[in-house]
Amino acid sequence: MKRQIANILTIDVEDYFQVEGFDRIISEADWDRFEIRFDRSLEWLLQILDSARVKATFFVLGWIVERHPHWIKEINRKGHEIAVHGYTHRRADTLTPEVFRTDLLRVKELLSNLGITEVSGYRAPSFSLTASSLWVWDILKECGFTYDASLSVKHFAAGGTPWARSDPGPQECQTAAGEVLTVFPQAYWPWKPPLPFAGGGYFRLYPYWVTRRGIAAWNRRGVPVTVYVHPWEFDPDQPRIRGAGPVRQFKHYVNLDIHREKFARLLLEFSFLSCREYLRARS
Ligand SMILES: [Zn+2]
Repeated sequence: MKRQIANILTIDVEDYFQVEGFDRIISEADWDRFEIRFDRSLEWLLQILDSARVKATFFVLGWIVERHPHWIKEINRKGHEIAVHGYTHRRADTLTPEVFRTDLLRVKELLSNLGITEVSGYRAPSFSLTASSLWVWDILKECGFTYDASLSVKHFAAGGTPWARSDPGPQECQTAAGEVLTVFPQAYWPWKPPLPFAGGGYFRLYPYWVTRRGIAAWNRRGVPVTVYVHPWEFDPDQPRIRGAGPVRQFKHYVNLDIHREKFARLLLEFSFLSCREYLRARS
């Protein structure tokens, strides 16, 4: 039986060659040369979400919106939420505020051209919001965004966090300019150091029960957990990219073959909703 508390499901729409793990060997200028594969996994994801009657938040790359608008419209048509993951996949902490603002507005405009105007959420590529890039929050507010899903405990574990509370549930945080922004942090086990467990390589690497117990433990304390996945994680037959180094290679390819099964089980055992639905239910 499903547990009662609703968690938050997020999907970062990018393809296998656009991830940070390969950014030292594949430049953005070469992206057009790669075979596009996110569409087949996305189709599977949309189907399984339909069957589970779950709406999710899809953080989309502007590069994908521009080249594959029909998929973005399809996600939107099915009632899921569209949010922003940057135009390309550059880490937020490598951009200047001016470049960040231009990048953000570019994606918003691409979405607006598709008739998608209700865009309130942002996730930095690779959870790249660090202590030196928290200015991002003020630009998000200035550009009409109401929430951010870019906080990773690993960037803040050493020196205090901008979390309003010490749990990973959605919470209201203050920006440097004194504005309030809702934040959906990456979920973690509260160990020393804290360990993420609810998405990406962590969810793929650990046995299913580790993620299951992590979510259940926070849920028992009344805290919803934000889960995140990527379409390329459901595509075990994707072309193998060589030369990124053994650690990056391992992180990208580990357990791709069993991920559909694990994700399906997660949808069976827990309740999920999108960030938008969560915020609406709360207000
Ligand atoms: Zn990403």
